[in-house]
Amino acid sequence: MSVRELVVLGTASQVPTRHRNHNGYLLRWDGQGLLFDPGEGTQRQMLRAGVAAHDINRICITHFHGDHSLGLAGVIQRINLDRVPHPVTAHYPASGERFFDRLRYATAYRETVRIAQRPVVEDGELDRSTSYLLEARKLSHPVESYGYRLVEPDARRMLPDLLAARGIAGPDIGRLQRAGELNGVTLDEVSELRPGQRFAFVMDTRLCDGVHALAEGVDMLVIESTFLDEDVQLATDHGHLTAGQAARVAAEANVRHLVLTHFSQRYTDPDEFARQARAAGFAGELTIARDLLRVPLPKRR
Ligand SMILES: [Zn+2]
Repeated sequence: MSVRELVVLGTASQVPTRHRNHNGYLLRWDGQGLLFDPGEGTQRQMLRAGVAAHDINRICITHFHGDHSLGLAGVIQRINLDRVPHPVTAHYPASGERFFDRLRYATAYRETVRIAQRPVVEDGELDRSTSYLLEARKLSHPVESYGYRLVEPDARRMLPDLLAARGIAGPDIGRLQRAGELNGVTLDEVSELRPGQRFAFVMDTRLCDGVHALAEGVDMLVIESTFLDEDVQLATDHGHLTAGQAARVAAEANVRHLVLTHFSQRYTDPDEFARQARAAGFAGELTIARDLLRVPLPKRR
């Protein structure tokens, strides 16, 4: 199974609206599910989007404002109610430990699942799975905020025609892959580089080094654009980005698919975010997030 897609559970900053739930995103990455920033109402949005508690292996919180974390109480209780058969790992800024603990134990329930709390204390690698490594980078917001980045290691794709032409078949293919050379044939001659896929999640920040580092060369960037460009001063003052700022970051970083989200309730026309992103010079694939949208990762390079 190799489904890699973003499931958008909510797209509102600060307060939900009639058409937007508080934030919330599930990234399906092969058999794994990573839940990012579950705001209030995430449990019900999961139901509407066809996401089960069983689908969650990891939870990543950028910071402890309500639109990014109030849903934790409900989601954690649901994970336990459904007796999810695997452990769940949670990452969040270490300075917000007390908020995580309170949300985790907001009301009485029976704990049945191991939830490993792995707070983020500094920039760098957090964990590795078979198909990605997870990194965090500090952002710039009034409360401590970290963005996340998944990096799949580069690999090599074997080319059947070239293998056949050199008479390599069956178990010899594995021997060549392990040794890098077999009977005078090198791995490079019968394979090509398969670049790993990359995903970044950048939420609640003004422009800073962390934003650029997270976005660099990713296949998909999910990034906040709380404001439109005419309100850039408000954005900077409150630690947020505008559509144009987010799109310029993506253009400079060679992002392939840009997903803008986390919109202020002051705006009613989502198309204006797209117009400003294009005006800022982003020419790749662009999605203005809507609740319950599914966005597949682009095909491999
Ligand atoms: Zn927010």
